[in-house]
Amino acid sequence: MGTSNTLVYTPEKGIVINEPSVVAINTRTDEILAIGAEAKKMLGKTPGHIQVIKPLVDGVISDFEVTEKMLKYFIDKVHSEYFTLIPRPRVVIGIPLDITEVEKKAVEDAAKSAGAREVFLIEQSMAAAIGTCFVVTDPIATMIVDIGGGTTEIAVISLSGVVAWKTLRLAGNALDNDIIQYVREEFNILIGEQVAENVKIKIGSATHLKEVLEMPLRGRDLINGLPKEVIITDSQVREAMSRIIRQMIENIKITLETTPPELVADIYEHGIILTGGGALLRGLDKEIAQATKIPVRIADDPLTCVVRGTGILLADPELLKKVISPANEEY
Ligand code: ADP
Ligand code: MG
Repeated sequence: MGTSNTLVYTPEKGIVINEPSVVAINTRTDEILAIGAEAKKMLGKTPGHIQVIKPLVDGVISDFEVTEKMLKYFIDKVHSEYFTLIPRPRVVIGIPLDITEVEKKAVEDAAKSAGAREVFLIEQSMAAAIGTCFVVTDPIATMIVDIGGGTTEIAVISLSGVVAWKTLRLAGNALDNDIIQYVREEFNILIGEQVAENVKIKIGSATHLKEVLEMPLRGRDLINGLPKEVIITDSQVREAMSRIIRQMIENIKITLETTPPELVADIYEHGIILTGGGALLRGLDKEIAQATKIPVRIADDPLTCVVRGTGILLADPELLKKVISPANEEY
């Protein structure tokens, strides 16, 4: 359950749901109009009586009722399509590192009232490490940097636990917002979040590129209110995103500084692994490698690492027992 995307994996079928964490509701009737990709398409385009809600903010539930409805919808869908015979499934859910006990309880309650028989909570960084097939039970450390929509989570994992970590409430959405800001200041036009995200994915980069990338950008002219089109280039988008990229790198360095030296040696040797959608930003791996002098690898299919990790755990109760998020315990 991510700020941007929610995925469901079943041991029998693999990934069966991969949808944006978005719900559209008719506020007159309280009826759900759409969930997932269909609801995301409505963002920024709705009349007054339709509200498009992103129930998760910075990785945690901000709207409990809507989260519960979304989970129930996904669990029901998986159920009706795949195992009509098992009435109440066991569920493993990935949670952020800096989640509070109250927030943990909210995730658990949402899953239970959505029909789960048993709920296991696991840190998303741990799940991502397992999803990339890293042997988390070995005394060899790895650093996972998971860049999602709301948060960047930096975690050092060794011997089935998270040894050092840092969470930054700046990730994909913040990059989009900085692009919106830049376009407003530079071109005097207003663009929406989805347009900004599209620009980031199509021509965004963290390092200088060999070839120039550019694309037309349509928005509202802030001076006369009319539609206007401009051309934006990769170097402009890079400039817009540079502040946040710098902060991500700074926080990786700070985390390394608080990591015990033996583990840092492992990380120098084996490298940093990038997961989450942000890992796909052009040249981000290079930029981090250059700044930290540590090799950086982008996980295979970074958007699905966490859910694949939870899938592995569901099929391996022994490993699940070892890595499960410690209850009522602070790091
Ligand atoms: P979450 O776990 O928070 O739901 P995800 O790991 O699903 O987040 O990643 C979503 C984020 O990744 C979004 O901000 C999206 O814009 C960004 N993203 C997806 N693909 C790319 C890409 N090719 N380049 C840069 N950012 C991307
Ligand atoms: Mg995520």
